[in-house]
Amino acid sequence: MEIRKGIPVSAGYAIAHALVLGDEQYSIPRKIVNDAEVAGEVERLRHAKAAAAEQMRAQVARMPRRIAAVTGKILESHIAMLGDQELHRELEEDIRRNKHSAEYAVTRILNHKIKLLAETPFAQRFMEDFRAIEDALLRQLTGERREDGTKLRQKAVIVAKALTPAQTAMLDRGNVLGLITETGGRTSHTAIVASSLGIPAVVGVEEIASDVTTGDLLVLDGSTGTVITDPDEATLKRYQAMERNFQVMGQRLSRELRDLPAVTKDGTRVSIFANIEMPDEIPAALDHGAEGIGLYRTEFLFHKSSPTEKDHLEAYRKAVSLLGKRPLIIRTLDLGADKMPADGLPREENPFLGTRAVRLCFERPEVFKTQLRALLKVAEMGNVSVMIPMISSIDEIFKVREIVEQVRAELRREGETTSRRVPLGIMIEVPSAAITADQIAPHVDFFSVGTNDLIAYTIAVDRTNERVAALYQPAHPAILRLLQTVIEAGMRHGRDVSVCGEMSSDLTYTLLLLGMGLRTFSVVPPQIPEIKKVIRSVTLAEAKEVAAKAVALGDAIKTTEYLRGETRKILPDAV
Ligand code: PEP
Ligand code: MG
Repeated sequence: MEIRKGIPVSAGYAIAHALVLGDEQYSIPRKIVNDAEVAGEVERLRHAKAAAAEQMRAQVARMPRRIAAVTGKILESHIAMLGDQELHRELEEDIRRNKHSAEYAVTRILNHKIKLLAETPFAQRFMEDFRAIEDALLRQLTGERREDGTKLRQKAVIVAKALTPAQTAMLDRGNVLGLITETGGRTSHTAIVASSLGIPAVVGVEEIASDVTTGDLLVLDGSTGTVITDPDEATLKRYQAMERNFQVMGQRLSRELRDLPAVTKDGTRVSIFANIEMPDEIPAALDHGAEGIGLYRTEFLFHKSSPTEKDHLEAYRKAVSLLGKRPLIIRTLDLGADKMPADGLPREENPFLGTRAVRLCFERPEVFKTQLRALLKVAEMGNVSVMIPMISSIDEIFKVREIVEQVRAELRREGETTSRRVPLGIMIEVPSAAITADQIAPHVDFFSVGTNDLIAYTIAVDRTNERVAALYQPAHPAILRLLQTVIEAGMRHGRDVSVCGEMSSDLTYTLLLLGMGLRTFSVVPPQIPEIKKVIRSVTLAEAKEVAAKAVALGDAIKTTEYLRGETRKILPDAV
């Protein structure tokens, strides 16, 4: 038995065999065939292409709709690539002219393309496509199967060095019981997706992908960041009991609280919204008791090539139809940095400080306008607000408004009705915006504090880098001051302030945020019942006292410990 510690990013327990997703490449030796074998190799290639395409089609057909909406398109483009005549001609020529075996021709030609693309600044996605095609063909030609986690035959805990947003999205969610990665931080994408879906996860576990082998029995505790390999009998029994208890408690709390309001004992009403990445997550969010959607991240629409207005509209309409009159805050694209890369942009040395999110929208107005057209149209159908990420100064808000008005005029010229006044809010996730929140407030309808980025930018700590994860402290006095500044600015100007970063999903900070004056939480759906429970267990005066003491401690570690202690008085096992 071996016990390791990582960064806990999604609570819960998983006990299952490991499935290690390797990042090793097929190694295909150079093989020359004789003249008589050439026709056979060409035939093998043809057969492999047909079989790979067939397998992908079957995969698309089997996918749950919510996943097919995004990943189905990727697979369809791969199927089209497999049928590409030009590619076939190149491969066949390599077999016929150089007498290469089919697998060697595949690996040689495709790797050559990948290498060329590697020198092109914005070709990351095309490289990934060619890798996927190479992988699919070699799998057919060699008969080897490498797991990618998209279709598991049994339940497993996924172990990987790193998981990209695309990989995480494509995981077989019904069978993935837990996630463990070597890289990542509390607010990395794997962490956010895992906690949204209620999958226990631990990131930043050193060497785990090389030390663990597929089939090893693992215990994962997503609340403490503990990963146990090869547990002994007593440990196994203890964790099995803890897992059962966790599930029973969670279900009970969810049932008890789903339809009750988040209101303090002395009657202060708080709103709890959910964060989502795809409209299909809405039913589960409502089931957990969400009153609406406080953050719809739209990056997944950009998963493949640039989405059309119709792609946007379909997704947003679906969200509106699932929510009815409930509020829906749709965030405009936040591509770049830790998110999906933006097509057609040169590589940047510091993407977190570069052409990200709204900055990209100004550089590529046609991409932004396509999204805005869909947003203005859908705003006529439901309770929709638009939220702009990465705002760092007032000028950007004016610029956004100007573009919104251009789009509105364009739509009107086309005969569309766009009469509804669409509330326009901003994410406060750059320190400059937090510090000047009082100046910005009159120009926007609401603020939503993105603590994931705000903490990273304020403390100068990469949110996805496990090596500096210890410095990533939501309770850092600087963060508390900024939060206080933003909440007070919102109050003074009558603007709603929410926190949609992961800090508001962490129960440790519920009392603090409530006591500081926050009245809207936007959180990962599985956390809603417990957050409600905490809010319903105190008076506002009690929460204020806790917040004042926590802030006065002036030290992230002491503050966190104190807040945990206070939270445990309400929910003994929660933090
Ligand atoms: C944030 O930065 O806190 C946030 C909610 O946005 P994202 O995690 O998508 O960057
Ligand atoms: Mg952010």
